[in-house]
Amino acid sequence: MSDRTSRAKVLAQTTIVEERSLEGIGLHTGCKTKLTFRPAPANSGIRFFRTDLPGTPMIPARLGFVVATVRGTNLGLHEAKVHTVEHVLSAATGLGIDNLDILVTANEPPAMDGSALPFFQTLLQAGLKTFPEAPKRRLTIAEEVTYEDKGSTYRAVPCGHFEIDATLIHDHPLVPRLSFNFRMDSGGYAAQVAPARTFCFEHEVQFLKSQGLAQGGSLENAVVIGRDRFHTNAEGLRFPDEFVRHKILDLIGDLTLIGRSLFGVKIEAVRCGHAHNIEFAKRLNAAATKLRRQPAVAAEQR
Ligand SMILES: [Zn+2]
Repeated sequence: MSDRTSRAKVLAQTTIVEERSLEGIGLHTGCKTKLTFRPAPANSGIRFFRTDLPGTPMIPARLGFVVATVRGTNLGLHEAKVHTVEHVLSAATGLGIDNLDILVTANEPPAMDGSALPFFQTLLQAGLKTFPEAPKRRLTIAEEVTYEDKGSTYRAVPCGHFEIDATLIHDHPLVPRLSFNFRMDSGGYAAQVAPARTFCFEHEVQFLKSQGLAQGGSLENAVVIGRDRFHTNAEGLRFPDEFVRHKILDLIGDLTLIGRSLFGVKIEAVRCGHAHNIEFAKRLNAAATKLRRQPAVAAEQR
């Protein structure tokens, strides 16, 4: 393959080749649910479809359709909602997928093992194809973008690749502070980020359940941080710093809602969570949109 061909492949939009499905229960709703990945045309982006509702309503995986960010990112359009979309979206971005239809038979994707790995592997098995006539839409910023609220801080700077440096800080002796730096490529994502599972603190479990959350949560799809030990399934922790890796997984999923390839930013995030991720994503999107409206840039960044 010539350099030119290889560059053209990297910069072209992608989708999957074949349809693939997964089944399980929703992490927060506890409902039985089946998710199907289906190839999508160029320039269609990532979209969810509720196949259990009349007319199979579509909900774009875009920032403008975020309706809630409590312990997960929920999308909605009119009456149709999809809860906890971030792990599925993170897997799609981990593979560099631009266009994808995601069909769900309930209001939440299956939790699987609480990580993005089952989704990543399923998408990988579905095969990838490119649209040579459709260049990737990339997120491009001209200068740093920052966001700060209630002790959480985010900073993005222009960069030739996509990198996240995340730090998690908790007032808890087992996980006082964890940091992880991740530079995106599919192999690295599969090995270092995708397997990291969702987690909560033991003292939160009853509260979450009383709020109607974590109804499908168990040690098969989450790690629970106890007062003096971790509660996990038989495999134990997958990484000593699994929690901060999961924060990166979630952030990648939430940033996917910008609807552009993230190659072009380096991000530092301290104490990130879904609500802040979405607010930061909106600022990034606004900065990139403003830049594209400048005539000199517009020709290159349509
Ligand atoms: Zn998560």
